[in-house]
Amino acid sequence: MSRVVLTDLERGHEDCILRFADGSSFKVSYLSIRCRCQCAKCKPRQENQQRLLEFEEEVARLRVEKPRAEPVGRYGVRFDWPTGCSSGIHSFTHLREVAEDLGQLL
Ligand SMILES: [Zn+2]
Repeated sequence: MSRVVLTDLERGHEDCILRFADGSSFKVSYLSIRCRCQCAKCKPRQENQQRLLEFEEEVARLRVEKPRAEPVGRYGVRFDWPTGCSSGIHSFTHLREVAEDLGQLL
């Protein structure tokens, strides 16, 4: 359970450090988080490999913009991206998956 409890989010300019209650920390780029965004605009673009590739290319072309991040209850974080996203909530469970798949274990 503690592996899906986010205890800290430290924001850098292009990436952030996610710390979880099990003691592990990951450095994850904002682009990685954005490429896995679960909001109503971004999620449909990840439904198959072809669309995901196009989506990733499009996100990669965006200027890296530091999103606003605000905690949502005890289960998630809302990232507020300046362009092309409806700023959905990223649950801790989802962030842990993104961190393990695309992040760098510290
Ligand atoms: Zn989105």
